[in-house]
Amino acid sequence: MQVLVLGAGFGGLELTTRLSDELGDDVDVVLVDRTEGFVFGFSKLEVMFGREERAGVFHPYRDLVKPGVRFVQADVVAIDPDAKRVETDAGTFQADVLVVALGAALDPGATPGLVEGGHEFYTEEGAFALRDVLASFPGGRVVVGVTSAPFKCPPAPSETALLLHDLLTERGVRERSSIALVMPMPTPIPPSPEASKAILAGFEERGIDWYPQRLVRGLDPARGVALLGKDEELPYDLFLAVPVHRAPSVVVDSGLTVDGWIPVDPLTLETRFPDVYAVGDVTSVGTPKAGVFAEGQAAVVADRLVARVRGGEQSAQYGGQGLCYLQFGRDQVAKVEVTFLSGQTPVGGLQGPSAALVADKAEFGRSRVRRWFGREWPAEPASAP
Ligand SMILES: Cc1cc2nc3c(=O)[nH]c(=O)nc-3n(C[C@H](O)[C@H](O)[C@H](O)COP(=O)(O)OP(=O)(O)OC[C@H]3O[C@@H](n4cnc5c(N)ncnc54)[C@H](O)[C@@H]3O)c2cc1C
Repeated sequence: MQVLVLGAGFGGLELTTRLSDELGDDVDVVLVDRTEGFVFGFSKLEVMFGREERAGVFHPYRDLVKPGVRFVQADVVAIDPDAKRVETDAGTFQADVLVVALGAALDPGATPGLVEGGHEFYTEEGAFALRDVLASFPGGRVVVGVTSAPFKCPPAPSETALLLHDLLTERGVRERSSIALVMPMPTPIPPSPEASKAILAGFEERGIDWYPQRLVRGLDPARGVALLGKDEELPYDLFLAVPVHRAPSVVVDSGLTVDGWIPVDPLTLETRFPDVYAVGDVTSVGTPKAGVFAEGQAAVVADRLVARVRGGEQSAQYGGQGLCYLQFGRDQVAKVEVTFLSGQTPVGGLQGPSAALVADKAEFGRSRVRRWFGREWPAEPASAP
């Protein structure tokens, strides 16, 4: 069986790893991505807040050496889901099964005034560039704002506000600064009232102002204000945005999307095109846009394809479970476990925040790098001669 996987993020990496582990050379997998390597979403915050170097959080695809898998660095420029044929700038690919895992594209230019008068921290470039901006910020009014919904990793703006408090405190400029957080939801993590309560208590204790149920529609850099609603404005000296998210244009142009994202069967991840699957942020499957959910969906697709190759029953179904480690600042991490089942109210519980969970979060990343790239992260120190 030939499987063509578009996108080597959380979803694409998990899918190809599982297929290779289970089938080895009995499957022919081509994995396509335009970039040279993978960076975890949470590592963007680590670099932005000066806790990690860029080189330390970059996982090159050249390390991806797996039986049955060929990585191709290329830009996907057209997808024909009927023919399962894909045009890239490195040639045309066709397969028996096509899996779209191209994630969500980010569009800072879609928010008036943002490119001229603010910063975004969701792309690698944006987050990495903010490192110097934050290190030299003299203090003032900081606004962290979400500009559209849905957006990736709903806890990330809250984490950013909490980490910002620590950084400005360490730098001795917190007292002459304010931090405001603008989010579209009524609570920081709606499926987990317990986690939301802990985060709101954390905001209150640190003097972080919380503006729920609003989006930032634009910035007026000349006046230094963020425009929230018709009559609501928030003055800022430093604006940190979650930019507008949408499906990559190549996906929209392919006819796979409905209302902006790819609809899939929530149990099997099949699209309406035979033998075309979609996983992760590019779908409207009903889970939040987060790596753990992309990974869980990819695992189900892999299990179904393995069963198909072996002639067994394709019984694996997606259960909507995910867990999220939340940077709480003050060297503490909280763990939120959430289950999203189609047609049911999502439920989630909270552990921590605690210093002990810092190691759990590190192991979450380490275990993925070990499985996906076959190496230790951080690299093991060279043994003594
Ligand atoms: C600041 C931040 C913190 C986060 N923290 C967490 C966290 O703690 N836990 C968590 O689970 N999630 C977290 N996330 C979310 C997580 O990063 C994403 O939800 C996850 O990566 C989605 O996986 P995916 O496979 O759907 O897409 P992605 O991982 O985005 O992968 C898509 C891939 O497709 C490639 N691509 C796109 N278009 C093309 C094209 N035309 N041609 C070729 N290649 C293309 C991209 O280069 C990319 O590698 C965070 C995100 C951010 C921004």
